[in-house]
Amino acid sequence: MRFDYDYVIVGGGMAADAAARGIRQLDPSGSIAILGDEADPPYERPPLSKDLWRDPSAHEPFLGTDGATDAQLHLSTRVTAIDRTARTVTADDDVFGYRALLLATGGRPRELTLGPSPQVVYFRTIGDYHRARALAAGSVVVVGGGFIGTEIAAGLAMAGAKVTLLTPDAEVGARQYPAGLVARIRRAFDEHGVDVRTGTQARWLERSSVGTVTVHVQAGETPVALAADGVVLGLGIEPNTELAQSCGLPVDDGVVVDRFLRTIDPAVFAAGDVASYPDAILGQRRVEHVDQATTSGRAAGANMAATVTGRPLEPYTHTPFFYSDIFDLGYEAVGRLDAQLELVEDWAVPQETGVVYYTEHASLVGVLLWNVWDATDAARALLSRFHEPGSLPDPGVLHGAIATG
Ligand SMILES: Cc1cc2nc3c(=O)[nH]c(=O)nc-3n(C[C@H](O)[C@H](O)[C@H](O)COP(=O)(O)OP(=O)(O)OC[C@H]3O[C@@H](n4cnc5c(N)ncnc54)[C@H](O)[C@@H]3O)c2cc1C
Repeated sequence: MRFDYDYVIVGGGMAADAAARGIRQLDPSGSIAILGDEADPPYERPPLSKDLWRDPSAHEPFLGTDGATDAQLHLSTRVTAIDRTARTVTADDDVFGYRALLLATGGRPRELTLGPSPQVVYFRTIGDYHRARALAAGSVVVVGGGFIGTEIAAGLAMAGAKVTLLTPDAEVGARQYPAGLVARIRRAFDEHGVDVRTGTQARWLERSSVGTVTVHVQAGETPVALAADGVVLGLGIEPNTELAQSCGLPVDDGVVVDRFLRTIDPAVFAAGDVASYPDAILGQRRVEHVDQATTSGRAAGANMAATVTGRPLEPYTHTPFFYSDIFDLGYEAVGRLDAQLELVEDWAVPQETGVVYYTEHASLVGVLLWNVWDATDAARALLSRFHEPGSLPDPGVLHGAIATG
């Protein structure tokens, strides 16, 4: 079947929702289609590893995209080809014509040796949340010490599961945070009874005849086998760039776009986790965080509408922040958090409330706001002022630059 829309958005996540809203800012009546391969309409992902675990009665975080934007949702619809000359995309037997196209295809979780199942959850979707919650009555091995692994391990522990958390790092968070904070995070896991195994690399998974899953782990020289009722994995994502690549759009880690979030094809844009864009402060990068998904999505949508309605495009100048919550610990951050860099720590209450500045080559590259809120604009302003190498000869000036209390 053939459908024709003014705007076609490939991907049904948060960037897609934001893009539909961005289109509506400039074009109240143009037709919009969202083609998403999940069965659910767009929803927020962060609550899947946070709010829903703290308060299971919380509502599922659907965004109400169709009601708010009048976009036509084509769910369980996987786009397999783009014809940029004909300005169409193909999904199964259907062809969708567009005047402006957005790639908001996000990323897919990296997998180990077993595919997804009720016992093996590569955590990304609302279905994964339900599968993980069903495991909370028993023992669960969580693989991965990044955002998803730590948040899910905390959620499962709060829900009563017997949790083992595996991280290849020397400690949870050792690659991102200063030593004092790393110890603070570890204490939180210990207090909640999580068995943290550091320096452990999960190699492969095996299903047992009695319904458990065994995680085969390399811990130093020693192979270890850990059996559990289920395993939840947070091994990072691969950006879904294949569609862009197959229609000849440049891809370099993500789909490469200019400061208008436009690919080399003026009718094709990209936003969210899949886009590699020139950040106004931090340079070319791809960001896997919700502020980027919503803000770049909205900006890309507005620029699609500007293209279709013949108005000037606006550059995307936002440097996104990100955040994470583990138990009652929480932070916001802008830029790069790398514990190998030179750090300036400014604590109001040590390891409880403070700001950590990440510097290299006499410049500021990241700001961690630990339990300090409403300060991301201040962090951006500092990054903007001190991002050139050599612009920060005395990192000591950062003490007190952002109010900590
Ligand atoms: C559990 C969880 C918790 C998170 N918590 C935080 C947090 O606390 N703070 C933070 O800053 N960020 C967080 N994030 C990251 C944030 O949610 C993502 O950055 C954001 O959701 C990305 O949105 P997106 O629309 O770009 O991509 P996605 O959410 O990946 O959406 C893309 C959609 O496109 C679909 N798709 C892909 N290819 C096709 C195709 N060919 N045809 C049709 N559909 C396709 C995908 O299936 C998917 O539904 C979290 C992520 C997860 C998973």
